[in-house]
Amino acid sequence: MRVLMVEDEVRLAETVRRGLVQEGFVVDVVHDGPAGLEAAETNDYDVLILDIMLPGLNGYDVCRRLREGGIWTPVLMLTAKDGEYDQVDAFDLGADDYLTKPFSFAVLVARLRALVRRGAPERPTMLSAGDLTLDPRTRSVRRGEVDISLTPREFGLLHFLMRHRGDVVSKPEILESVWDLNYDGDDNVVEVYIGYLRRKIDHPFRRRAIETVRGAGYRLAGTGG
Ligand code: CA
Repeated sequence: MRVLMVEDEVRLAETVRRGLVQEGFVVDVVHDGPAGLEAAETNDYDVLILDIMLPGLNGYDVCRRLREGGIWTPVLMLTAKDGEYDQVDAFDLGADDYLTKPFSFAVLVARLRALVRRGAPERPTMLSAGDLTLDPRTRSVRRGEVDISLTPREFGLLHFLMRHRGDVVSKPEILESVWDLNYDGDDNVVEVYIGYLRRKIDHPFRRRAIETVRGAGYRLAGTGG
């Protein structure tokens, strides 16, 4: 089991690291928020231990950015009793569990094992590509501060493209996911709807998020165009 611990109290981090290694975990430790975010984005961990008050970027922001980026590694937050945040915030912001400092090492290990067993189910969260954002819970789409109104089919298509942002997706793949499996009409319907989407998310903003890749399909730019 591979653990990332993001904790700026170096002695505490080292004590925990040694204990976890003895329990059979493989442990990476970093001491500030940006390094934690980068490590969690780059490597494949089974669980993250995130302190809240961290230099550079606090634990909540690290967690939120990971979730926005589609990284669902379970997160255990470390909160301080007298801190400015509490466990309610931790859950709101995408953490899976929390421990209040000072904590017992045995409890920490038990919580980590439970989180690893539970795994990382994907939960709906805001998707973003540059300043283009899509919230599956409220079914809303925005370009910067501007709300964009989409029909259900347009929304489904954009949701699919955003989940695969940066990748080329083919017309058949789009049809299968956004229309239903039994749809046997002309696949030009995809082209038609790509056109509708461009008129709403790109043209009014003079942007080109949706790229046509000849002979292959479409790609939504990860930068939002
Ligand atoms: Ca701290």
